[in-house]
Amino acid sequence: MTSFTESEERLELRRQVAKLAGKFGREWFTEKARAGEKTTELWLEIGKAGYLGINIAEEYGGGGGGIGDIAAVCEELSAQGCPLLLMVVSPAICGTIIGRYGTPEQKRRWLPGLCDGTGTMAFAITEPDAGTNSHNITTTARRDGDDWILTGQKVYISGVDEADNVLVVARAEDARTGKLKPCLFVVPTNAPGFEFSPIPMEIVSPELQFQVFIDDVRLPADALVGDEDGGLVQLFAGLNPERIMAASFSTGLARFALDRAAAYAKERTVFKAPIGSHQGIAHPLAQSHIEIELARLMTQKAAALCDAGDDIGAGEAANMAKYAAAEAACDAADRAVQTHGGNGITQEYGMAGLLVATRAGRIAPVSREMILNYVAMHSLGLPKSY
Ligand SMILES: Cc1cc2nc3c(=O)[nH]c(=O)nc-3n(C[C@H](O)[C@H](O)[C@H](O)COP(=O)(O)OP(=O)(O)OC[C@H]3O[C@@H](n4cnc5c(N)ncnc54)[C@H](O)[C@@H]3O)c2cc1C
Repeated sequence: MTSFTESEERLELRRQVAKLAGKFGREWFTEKARAGEKTTELWLEIGKAGYLGINIAEEYGGGGGGIGDIAAVCEELSAQGCPLLLMVVSPAICGTIIGRYGTPEQKRRWLPGLCDGTGTMAFAITEPDAGTNSHNITTTARRDGDDWILTGQKVYISGVDEADNVLVVARAEDARTGKLKPCLFVVPTNAPGFEFSPIPMEIVSPELQFQVFIDDVRLPADALVGDEDGGLVQLFAGLNPERIMAASFSTGLARFALDRAAAYAKERTVFKAPIGSHQGIAHPLAQSHIEIELARLMTQKAAALCDAGDDIGAGEAANMAKYAAAEAACDAADRAVQTHGGNGITQEYGMAGLLVATRAGRIAPVSREMILNYVAMHSLGLPKSY
């Protein structure tokens, strides 16, 4: 192994996950989505195999690995056509934050369920009026005796219907300064006053996005993750894993699109030879292969820095990886559709659905513009533009 290749252990993990996901496959995934059904079977199977909590400490039911491992799992699932968005959220964001900052009791209560898939957790920060500007969120938490009362609204929250709890970012008043500071709360999805409704999306996926209404939801004191003053640091701890996972989700989907396109280009003959013999078809696919490999390399670098505890170095790499992966995935999906000709927009071949799925990667969890803002400011030292 060199520092530019993954360990044999990581490669074997990839092979095993690919094998498991391959038993399910894209057609199964798409049928579930179109029937309004869930992928719980796959979720529980990867949980049982130990892949879902591979980044979580062994004493809480996890595999004791890092973000590089869970990102590999996420990428291989996507590459088999079974992208699971909740992997970004439940084990990677929530698992990292609770694993690092939760009290021992909170870790015992929540982490085992994240690992075996029986206690999935969604993550809610985005609000309709704040959008990208998360400093403007208005969901508030106020004390009532020992309890907390939460009120507010969230939007585009993935997988609330499949989750037992949601890690909600709210703002609480600082007793000393009177200013509002971010705090993270674990809110049960069946709590009185917590309601959610699906947002009709064009993405073909069993995992849905929701509007969430939080109306005076009463929570016990220990629903607050870690301590009251640590919210911002906790939130930042979730950002690198979130971006690395989003990048892996995208590179996996890109690989899936490219595999299907290359296979089709070898088979389909219109003039005298397979369409893949024309450079007009071959070159864009070759270009995608290069772009995907570059994005994967940056994703692996980001994960390695993150797992080595270099949060600042990982921040730049994770943003760049997420950017590159989303771009590579959008282009790969578009080229895969083009390679398939008319078949590219049939449900039977399932390529067109990838256009929206990959496109979402340019918007969420952080938009390409905000990554460009980050790089302009942090990497190039340009003035802040917003
Ligand atoms: C499929 C999907 C799943 C999601 N899941 C979750 C989830 O589980 N939990 C959660 O909390 N959120 C989730 N989100 C929300 C997601 O994080 C937001 O959509 C994203 O952060 C963008 O916010 P917005 O949609 O409000 O866009 P806006 O903030 O309204 O931005 C609109 C456009 O303006 C651009 N823009 C805004 N400000 C600037 C600026 N300063 N400079 C340049 N351009 C700018 C943006 O880049 C974007 O292109 C999800 C979204 C999607 C699409």
